[in-house]
Amino acid sequence: AAAGGPSGTKQVKLERECELRIEVSPDSPLRLRILAGTAEIFGTEIAPEIWLSFPPGLKFAVFSWYGATVEMDGATETDYTADETPMISYVNVHAVLEGRRNRAKASPTDSDLSQGPRVIVVGPTDSGKSTLSRMLLSWAAKQGWKPTFVDLDIGQGSITIPGCIAATPIELPIDPVDGIPLEMPLVYFHGHPNPGPNVDLYKVLVKELAQILERQFAGNAESRAAGMVINTMGWIENVGYELLLHSIDALKANVILVLGQEKLFSMLKDVLKSKPNVDVVKLQKSGGVVTRQGNVRKKARHYRIKEYFYGLSNDFSPHSNTANFSDLSIYRVGGGPQAPRSALPIGAEPAADPTRLVHVTISKDMHHAVLAVSFAKEPDQIISSNVAGFICITEIDFDRKKITYLAPSAGELPGRFLIMGSLAWLET
Ligand code: ADP
Repeated sequence: AAAGGPSGTKQVKLERECELRIEVSPDSPLRLRILAGTAEIFGTEIAPEIWLSFPPGLKFAVFSWYGATVEMDGATETDYTADETPMISYVNVHAVLEGRRNRAKASPTDSDLSQGPRVIVVGPTDSGKSTLSRMLLSWAAKQGWKPTFVDLDIGQGSITIPGCIAATPIELPIDPVDGIPLEMPLVYFHGHPNPGPNVDLYKVLVKELAQILERQFAGNAESRAAGMVINTMGWIENVGYELLLHSIDALKANVILVLGQEKLFSMLKDVLKSKPNVDVVKLQKSGGVVTRQGNVRKKARHYRIKEYFYGLSNDFSPHSNTANFSDLSIYRVGGGPQAPRSALPIGAEPAADPTRLVHVTISKDMHHAVLAVSFAKEPDQIISSNVAGFICITEIDFDRKKITYLAPSAGELPGRFLIMGSLAWLET
């Protein structure tokens, strides 16, 4: 029940286990606060009385376990209360994961038992995977665990810019407005917003990431017990399905949460039945999940890159730097010109090696390209190295052989080798 308040504000009373679903107006932000009771946004409890400001277009829900009064100030595209949510089933999953974390913590010296849950969330696009991942992480962090968030969604990741897979420990419940703090995530650059252009590279990078996490866990009983929550892409057919199986295997996931797809659930259940330590669980999709069209996703990718350079509310000041062509060493992975037939033994077919490194010369095509700065010390380490950050090429002067690029900060780049994919960003 909503009641009109003074000066464009509106109060909503939420009954227990109900949620207020909001789509902020596309043109202006929305302020919101809790007047009475308790409520959370995607697993993170909101402090009472304090106004929070949500950016235009954001879609989210304020959920209350025991009832709350919410006040909104500003325009919304939609806002309505729902009393049917899958939250009870989600929090039951959390309780089972807690049990496993506690068990793992109790046997820190046993190499198997000390491993907490490795949860992977799978399902089609717009089934609420990112949202469920976020809730499970925030609920765990609230209880003092530091679970590792692994985001394999190169289209709409929540840790860094699109085109990447990444991992980061979550030490506090995730901020409902600011999202995940960009402290020191472990990031690998694929370079494309979907794995299609180089499926093998995607697999190689997931493997690399898994190896590094395995090493970190071996030396850190606390994060090993807390486990991982792995978010995945919405591509679940054909090659997408194959990539899911690959990720489950590479990251040794032992809890598979399938959102909103009966067929995927039964396929995974069947293929994993020989593994007694892997649980496949079917969960209901929330009716609040909003479907996003292709152009909305594209726009979201654009904003993620903008946010990387400028901050969520234009609070960073990126630097425009200039370098000589000769200072930058730019590579592409895979593709590139194939070996000419004449250079191959008779009868052999030329094949593009998907993880072949191709040095690229600076050309007009690179205008607006977003490149990753690799931590590699030598070119042959580029594929197995994580990246320090990103730059965007803004100007190329072919006469003076100089390149101007936008970087999050001034000064020298943290590495000499840059990786180029198909990602581009044009400041608007
Ligand atoms: P997926 O990761 O499966 O593509 P998301 O978790 O990103 O799906 O959800 C899609 C969109 O729906 C997001 O904008 C998210 O904030 C929104 N959303 C998810 N759950 C709810 C809910 N209960 N109420 C309102 N919006 C929601």
